[in-house]
Amino acid sequence: MTHFDTIVMGGGIGGLAVAAMLGRAGQRVLLLERAGVLGGRADTTEVEGGYLLNLGGHALYRTGHGARVLGALGVRVRGGRPSRGPRPQGLWQGEAVALPVGAGAAFGAEGWSWGDRWEVGRGVAAAVATGGRGQEGLPLARWIDARFERPRARALFEALARVSTYANAPERSSAGATLAQVRQALVGDVLYLDGGWRTIVRGLEEAARGAGVEIRLGAAARRLEGEGRRWSVAWDEGEGSAEAAVLAGPPSMARGLLGAGRLGAALDGLVPIQAACLDVALDGLPRPEGGLLLGLDAPLYASVHSGAAALAPEGGGVIHAMKYLAPGEVTEPGADIEALESLLDVAQPGWRGRVVHRRALPRMTVAGAHALAERGGLAGRPSVEIEGIEGVFLVGDWVGDRGMLADASLASAERAAEAILARSRAVCRVA
Ligand SMILES: Cc1cc2nc3c(=O)[nH]c(=O)nc-3n(C[C@H](O)[C@H](O)[C@H](O)COP(=O)(O)OP(=O)(O)OC[C@H]3O[C@@H](n4cnc5c(N)ncnc54)[C@H](O)[C@@H]3O)c2cc1C
Repeated sequence: MTHFDTIVMGGGIGGLAVAAMLGRAGQRVLLLERAGVLGGRADTTEVEGGYLLNLGGHALYRTGHGARVLGALGVRVRGGRPSRGPRPQGLWQGEAVALPVGAGAAFGAEGWSWGDRWEVGRGVAAAVATGGRGQEGLPLARWIDARFERPRARALFEALARVSTYANAPERSSAGATLAQVRQALVGDVLYLDGGWRTIVRGLEEAARGAGVEIRLGAAARRLEGEGRRWSVAWDEGEGSAEAAVLAGPPSMARGLLGAGRLGAALDGLVPIQAACLDVALDGLPRPEGGLLLGLDAPLYASVHSGAAALAPEGGGVIHAMKYLAPGEVTEPGADIEALESLLDVAQPGWRGRVVHRRALPRMTVAGAHALAERGGLAGRPSVEIEGIEGVFLVGDWVGDRGMLADASLASAERAAEAILARSRAVCRVA
């Protein structure tokens, strides 16, 4: 059995990042990935004609932990800011309306009364000024109740919260965590990436391999046993031992490998953030001037990602549409995708005749855990270090008290690497 300093299970961006950091620090690292390719949910599919589709609409928060960690690892990404493109539109009672947000918000948003604009402006200003500090245990809906009286203004703020967090649970989402994310989206802005999110995956893979990390694909971790500094891991066709083990997959993977008995209540009560996605490649955009269409009275999103980033050949377009699902929401089979198709009828009338490729993903897990008010927001997610289990570390977008979505995945990767290195330095000192 080969011995490693650390075995990382899961080759999404979280697993790749922690492996690269440990490899750079001189550790001998093995990374196991169940699938035949790296990247997990950050993978990008290239379809006929050179169109690049992320697994559902993805945007990188420019000032988030993710961008910072990628920068520290030397992973360079390029792309465009959708906010600099066409003015966003909202869908209200079946009609597209201009939104009073973004540059020149006070102008060109006909149909919005001054009262609506005042409430939206005041809500956004409060979110930006406080970033939700001190509101972690308050449900988002209660924060909104205190500031919004006008239905359409309220609907717009809720839509901004959804598009920033992907969460559709105002009664349960932490106001503090949500407002911090709204601020990050509005002030820090986001990037759609040229070449799709696989550029992140490739950059991290290069960093990991360059640091000597051994990567096995098609290698699902099946068993994890041990304690302290002696852990053994069995995967399809192999076995290895290590001083530390990193679980960089979903919560179900941690539960499966460690067992409920060992984990105790550490992973209880997590509520995943989920979405129904429709990704389409078109040989031409019926409305080239169209950009983002955000549902106000329905939790819907459609955006022309190729408008801001290099994702389609000349003249073609890539659109990601999404329905933000409420926790436990169950709909008739196909109903969510039909709703997204109807949304595209408004955003890009005639799109159905221009389809080169269409992919429906009716239930994607966007993040493994909501930041819930009842758990105190981000601080209520499981920690990187599991109480009572020394030597096993968690990484993912459901782990740790920093950031949401990919930011959380990369921030927890950084924290896991720091904890593992601090632990091995402590041994060196004792020795
Ligand atoms: C529709 C959608 C939209 C999103 N939009 C955004 C966005 O706009 N901005 C943003 O920041 N984030 C976004 N995200 C979230 C982002 O994609 C994830 O946070 C990030 O990719 C998670 O990376 P990860 O490595 O933590 O997990 P994953 O990508 O899930 O990787 C885990 C890996 O573990 C592997 N694995 C599982 N079990 C085993 C096992 N037993 N042994 C070995 N390997 C195993 C899996 O195959 C997988 O490759 C979005 C996600 C979705 C689905």
